[in-house]
Amino acid sequence: MKSDPKECLYCQNNETLNNLMIEIAKLSVSRVFIFKEQTYRGRCLMAYKDHVDDLNLLSDDDRNAFMADVAKVTRAMQKVFNPDKINYGAYSDTLEHLHFHLIPKYKGGPDFGGVFRMNPQKVYLTDAEYEQMAEDLKKEIL
Ligand SMILES: [Zn+2]
Repeated sequence: MKSDPKECLYCQNNETLNNLMIEIAKLSVSRVFIFKEQTYRGRCLMAYKDHVDDLNLLSDDDRNAFMADVAKVTRAMQKVFNPDKINYGAYSDTLEHLHFHLIPKYKGGPDFGGVFRMNPQKVYLTDAEYEQMAEDLKKEIL
């Protein structure tokens, strides 16, 4: 482990985290968030429960549980938002806490057929819209 959990937004649940995303559920080994920037309608993020740098450091059981959580959420996203494809992004170059960006893509929509942008800072919803989105997703996830 290279980084300090004390400086990790997922471990600290700090303002940086709250500015970027809204936690909507806890699953077996992960936390589910709605990413506030919604250029890609329905964009979510999942973080592993502990401060672990990479998928390949988990035990088989924990890795399988994490991937099962991820699939559960993308299945829900597919149902709620009906995207043409969901992209999975796991980077963590500088933030060494295992997390996946889950990006719905729509034919004719932003960056379809290409790589999603990390944070275009263009589309934000109202609190009521985030709440509705959380409710719709939770109905399918939990
Ligand atoms: Zn962390």
